[in-house]
Amino acid sequence: MTESCYRFAPSPTGNVHIGNIRVAIFNWLQARHCGGEFVLRIEDTDQQRSTPAAIDNLLQVMDWLGLDYDREPLYQSARRQRHRQAAEQLLASGQAYRHGAGQDGEPVVFRIPLDLEEFAAVTTVGPVRLELMAGQPLAIDATGIAYVLPSRKGKPVPQHSCLAGMHDLRVRDAAGNTLFSLPEQLPAIVRGEQCFSSDAATILEFTRRQVSFHDLVKGVLAKPLDSLRDLVVVRSDGSPVFHLANVVDDVDQGVTDIVRGDDHVENTYRHLFLFHALGRTPPRYAHLPMIVNPQGKPYSKRDGAAFVGEFRQQGYLPEALFNYLALLGWSPGGDREKMDRQEMVSLFSLSRVQRTAAQMDLRKLDNLNGQYMAELPLPDFIARARDQAAQYPWSTQAEPQLFARVAALMQSRTKKMTDVEDWQSFFVELPDYDEKETRKHLSKPGAAEALAELAEGLGQVEWEEEALEQAVREAAEKHGVRPGKLNQPLRLATTGAAVGAGIFETM
Ligand code: GLU
Repeated sequence: MTESCYRFAPSPTGNVHIGNIRVAIFNWLQARHCGGEFVLRIEDTDQQRSTPAAIDNLLQVMDWLGLDYDREPLYQSARRQRHRQAAEQLLASGQAYRHGAGQDGEPVVFRIPLDLEEFAAVTTVGPVRLELMAGQPLAIDATGIAYVLPSRKGKPVPQHSCLAGMHDLRVRDAAGNTLFSLPEQLPAIVRGEQCFSSDAATILEFTRRQVSFHDLVKGVLAKPLDSLRDLVVVRSDGSPVFHLANVVDDVDQGVTDIVRGDDHVENTYRHLFLFHALGRTPPRYAHLPMIVNPQGKPYSKRDGAAFVGEFRQQGYLPEALFNYLALLGWSPGGDREKMDRQEMVSLFSLSRVQRTAAQMDLRKLDNLNGQYMAELPLPDFIARARDQAAQYPWSTQAEPQLFARVAALMQSRTKKMTDVEDWQSFFVELPDYDEKETRKHLSKPGAAEALAELAEGLGQVEWEEEALEQAVREAAEKHGVRPGKLNQPLRLATTGAAVGAGIFETM
C-alpha cells in the first residue's frame, strides 16, 4: 500500500469530452493499480457554466463508467475563503504583492521567488547576452523587467520577465557602459522604493536559470525563468484565480500525483513555485498528450461523437468505451485491444503512456463495442435493444416474441445500439428500398425474373430455413442464375438493405 493520492479535477461545463474523461480513467487506473487514493475535485468556480445540471451530468458520467472515488467530492466553489486566506499568507510572508498602488481591492500577484537556492526544480543554465531593440524603452520595477526585442523582421516584440528571471542582471548601453546593476538595487526595487527606466539600454547580461520537472510521460520538461512573469492569484474583485485555487486544493487534499492533459504543462511551471511558496514539495506530474483526429488536430464534435453523453445515447456500452479510452495512448505491450477492467488495473503504468498524441478511431471503437455487445447475456441484450427501439416508430409493430428472435439473430452483428434502427424491415410490411443497391442487384440477368417467381411461389412453401433455401435454389436454377447469386437480390427485396444476417434465417 503506497501513500499516493491521485485526483480528477474537472471544470464541469455540461458536456464531458472524451479527452477529459480519459484523464479520469488514467488517474483511476493508476490509483487502483498502486493501491492509492482516487479523489474527485469539482472545479466549479465558473458560475456561468458550472450549473447544478452540469455537475449532475459529470457525476452521472463518472458513475456510468464505473469511476468510483474514495472521498466525498470537494467543491472548489465552497473554498473561496481558504483560497483568499492562502493569498493573505503569501502577502504576509512577502511572497506576493498587490498590483498598482497596493490598495485592498487591487489584484494580488504572486512573485516568482527570488531566493531559489533551496529549490531543486530551479537550475542554472548559463550566461546570456540579449540585444535589445534600439531606441525602445526598458523599465525595471517591483513587477519585473519590461524590455523590447527585435523580431526576425526587425519589428518590436515587447517582453516582460519576472525579477527572478534575470539573475545578476547588468544593463549596458551601446558603448558597453553599465547603466544599471540589479543585484545591488534588488531589495529597494522589490520594496517599490526604486525603479529604473532607460531608452539607451542596448544589452542585457544575466545568468539564465530554468525551472524543470520530470514528467512521468514526457520526460524532463524545462522553461527559462526569464520567460515567466509574476502571477495574478486574486483578481481585483476578490475572486481567486485558477492557479491559486488549483494548487491550494491539491495541497489540502494531499495530492501526491497529478495526471492531467498536456494543455496544463505551461501552468505546471508556475504551480511548482506556488507549491514551494506554500511550503510543500511539489507532486509528481504526468501530462497526457491529447486525443486528435486523423489530420492530427484536436478531436472535436466536428469529427464525430466527442462527449461521453453522446456515446451513451448512441448505445455504446460503458465497459467498451472505458476499454477503448484506456488503450487510447496507453498499451501494456503487445497488440492488446480488449481487456477487462481488472486486467487493466493490474497492468496499468504511466511509463507506458505514449508521448505523442493519440488518434481517435471510431471504427475501432465500434468493433470493440461490437465485441462487448456480442458477449452480453441474450436477455440483457434483448432488453437494451428494446429500450433503444422504443424511439423508432416501427417499434409499435414489433411483437415481443418476434423481437426477441430478431435480437438473437442480430446480436453478433450489432456494433452499437443505434444499429437497431435498421431492424425495421423485420417488422414493417414494406421496407424502404435503397435505390442504388436495388438498381445494382436487380439488373443482374435473371435476378428480377427469379424474384418475381419467388414472390408467387414462396406462399406455398413451409416457412422454415431449409425449405426456403431449396425454393430459392430452384428458382435460381430455372432462370440461369448461379446458386448463391440470388441471395443478395433476395436480401434487398426482403429487408431493403444489401447487408445483414444470413438471408434464410432473416426470412
Ligand atoms: N479544472 C481544470 C481543468 O479541467 C484543472 C485540471 C487539473 O489541474 O487537473 O482543466
